[in-house]
Amino acid sequence: MSIETRCPGCERTLQVGDEHAGKQARCPLCNEIYLVPANEAPPADSDSGLWRMRTPEGQTFGPVPRSELTQWISEGRVSSECLLSSDSQPNWVNADAIFPELAAPLRSSSPIRPAPAARYISPHRGPLILTLGIMGWAFTCPIFGICAWVMGSADLREMQAGRMDASGTGLTQAGQIIGMINALITIILVVIGVFLLLLGVGWR
Ligand SMILES: [Zn+2]
Repeated sequence: MSIETRCPGCERTLQVGDEHAGKQARCPLCNEIYLVPANEAPPADSDSGLWRMRTPEGQTFGPVPRSELTQWISEGRVSSECLLSSDSQPNWVNADAIFPELAAPLRSSSPIRPAPAARYISPHRGPLILTLGIMGWAFTCPIFGICAWVMGSADLREMQAGRMDASGTGLTQAGQIIGMINALITIILVVIGVFLLLLGVGWR
């Protein structure tokens, strides 16, 4: 048996084998990677798709699946002033319109603990750090590499401590390592260059 899917890239109808249900597949016509729907009934609209959150300060988090969003709410990180949007509902709406439990009266009725101070996780700087690491190579300038190295190390510590969006770990690590190697190689080349220069001066 096979599943009939529609490629989101080229809009053509494709047949894929049963074994790909719920997994990613590559469209043979346009190379678009897309998710093959599971064999069972598709999940309810509100539960599918990715969500974004914007804080009153204007920081944006996500996209995350709905399960992670409810996790954030249970941790008190989402206030009723936060805005939410999702794939199925691209406009920003107040969080309490989607999660009525965020509205003030219900919240104060929780006897277990007082509403915790909202704990926001700062967004990661993975793309910036990776860019700095690459710029170190592009311009053979160790300053970029050292920046990527130092910023990457600091951010990875923040992520481990849970104070920074850990979804940027891969990019940050890549930028940190590329920057570190660039800085070290540049420094070694400079040392060798100075050494050869001194040697050349000595021969004369
Ligand atoms: Zn396609």
